[in-house]
Amino acid sequence: MSYQKPKGTNDLLPGTSEKWQFIEETARLIFRDYQYEEIRTPIFEHYEVISRSVGDTTDIVSKEMYDFYDKGKRHITLRPEGTAPIVRSFVEHKLFGPEFAKPYKTYYMGPMFRYERPQAGRLRQFHQIGAEAFGSVNPAVDVESMAMALDFFKQLGIQQIRLVINSLGDKATRKAYRQALIDYLEPKQEELSEDSKRRLHENPLRVLDSKDKKDRAIVVDAPSILDYLSDSSKAHFETVKAMLDALAIPYEVDSNMVRGLDYYTDTIFEIMSDAPGMGAQSTICAGGRYNGLVEELGGPETPGFGFALGIERVLMTMEAEEVVIPVINEIDAYIVGIGSETNAEALKLVQAIRGFGFSADRDFMNRKPKAQFKTADKANAKLVLTIGESELTDGIVKVKAMATRNEKTFALTDIYERFDEVYDEMLTVAFEE
Ligand code: ATP
Ligand code: MG
Repeated sequence: MSYQKPKGTNDLLPGTSEKWQFIEETARLIFRDYQYEEIRTPIFEHYEVISRSVGDTTDIVSKEMYDFYDKGKRHITLRPEGTAPIVRSFVEHKLFGPEFAKPYKTYYMGPMFRYERPQAGRLRQFHQIGAEAFGSVNPAVDVESMAMALDFFKQLGIQQIRLVINSLGDKATRKAYRQALIDYLEPKQEELSEDSKRRLHENPLRVLDSKDKKDRAIVVDAPSILDYLSDSSKAHFETVKAMLDALAIPYEVDSNMVRGLDYYTDTIFEIMSDAPGMGAQSTICAGGRYNGLVEELGGPETPGFGFALGIERVLMTMEAEEVVIPVINEIDAYIVGIGSETNAEALKLVQAIRGFGFSADRDFMNRKPKAQFKTADKANAKLVLTIGESELTDGIVKVKAMATRNEKTFALTDIYERFDEVYDEMLTVAFEE
């Protein structure tokens, strides 16, 4: 019998997992600079939390949910995205209260689940890093958030990216625009894809987000939502653009961009990769403002702004741009034990060295010295400690600095009592030479 991972999932093996750690650590460092703190929510939620916020007519809720009834007959779903769970948590723990900072800035990272047709950059379990800011309508929050996402990509060494923005306006804007869009699309109904025919009356903005080629050709000439913005939404969008200009952040406006989730209001944005080979999955980061969402999930009126980026797509971009990820491939000490009698002492040595805060490894396979030295070399060991039967009897160990080939014999007690000094001594001598 042979088992395989479920379709649309990945095993991350060494060689790849280091890259993930680098991306995650970079995010944590940048987010800290911007004063965002982490919230970790469960990977499953009550179905309602997602359906209410993301929207029943979206692809995510209508087609892609990993939902089920648990043994207690609760309707549960694996989370398909991070914002709804964070908002649920924000409301549940009353993080809008006076004792909390405003805006309340938080980030998350972890797996998301969508039943999609798997392809490069489109998985069923994929991973997002996201950030949310609650409690301010200031357009500077929108711009700071976009700047943070761009900062993150810059820090990773990604260069071929483009910021695309649009505004979806407020409720009044959407109502007026909805009708205009229906009026435009209705005469062309027959040419639309089956999905879009359905969307036309359920949720016409969704048609703009269709991936169908024919749909896309039709929506090119659709009326622009920007012509329907209310005065306050217009002012907000103008300020966002002026602030991007003030920070010298280049951007494009795409008035047909809508996003696949219903909760957005006013500013929305995507960061696209222009690196070769990204294909249809070139959106690496997406987000925007969601001023009604906290109320929708039972909290007080609280505006919000956030984004999510897909780690798999970020990695694809880095590979396409041939960004080199720094990996630490060295170890402070390697213990070569010759003969099975040294087994216990080698264990004590490696543990003692780790106890001093150094990285260390040893042979466990009772291999020949030559093979052990080869392993030490491959691991880029700075020091190799060799102990054989006679050293064991004499209570000593040979210590060799690999860079200089400088070798010295120490008492075992030196290692156990003052390895930090031995380490410095061996590597400083190397330095002076
Ligand atoms: P798309 O239009 O590509 O389906 P989306 O609008 O559904 O994306 P969001 O829900 O806004 O995407 O998610 C934000 C980011 O998460 C995307 O820009 C992408 O980087 C990533 N992402 C979304 N779905 C997937 C997936 N199935 N596999 C891998 N990454 C994904
Ligand atoms: Mg999608």
